[in-house]
Amino acid sequence: MSAVADAKRLVVKVGTSTLTYENGRLNLRRIESLVKVLSDLKNAGREIVLVTSGAIGVGAGHLGLKERPRDIGGKQAAAAVGQCELMYTYDKQFSEYGHVTAQVLLTRDVVEDDRRKVVNTLCRLLEYGAVPIINENDTVATEEIEFGDNDTLSALVAELVGADALVLLTDIDGLYDADPHQSPDAHPIPEVRIIDQNLLK
Ligand code: GLU
Repeated sequence: MSAVADAKRLVVKVGTSTLTYENGRLNLRRIESLVKVLSDLKNAGREIVLVTSGAIGVGAGHLGLKERPRDIGGKQAAAAVGQCELMYTYDKQFSEYGHVTAQVLLTRDVVEDDRRKVVNTLCRLLEYGAVPIINENDTVATEEIEFGDNDTLSALVAELVGADALVLLTDIDGLYDADPHQSPDAHPIPEVRIIDQNLLK
């Protein structure tokens, strides 16, 4: 834990099931607690990058859809709605603690293209004292350019900004070498010192 305790630059990823109820509505109490802790860490001098999921689930809930859409058009549309609600909620709550948020929506092609200089945007936001809030740009993401999940995206972001630690807040109790919901043989990985291609696979 000391790597996290001592981390100056911290990337925190939070998953949909942590942020929302099953019907897609926001779990406001949980978001409030998260924002309070992150704001306090910022007050203590840490730099925070938040990678958030939830756009599609929250959008589906807000639109009153019976279930999360499965087709690409439905996901893209739901994400456009949900991303607004997510950012509105984060911005309102971070503002209460005097912190500035910045929305950064990414797709794989953007991160991999050095000319887009995403790293400069993120580092400058941190220099300005803002909290970059990152999600995949699900509204324009299609299979060829998507990360697939925000665990992968957060690992790439952590590498990109040279973070001292990456914290994944999820409903799975640690990092595994496979999805424990799907593979009963999945093994926990207790500590990651280097984020390499093997880990990102
Ligand atoms: N980007 C997706 C969303 O905001 C979530 C992807 C994930 O949960 O890993 O709904």
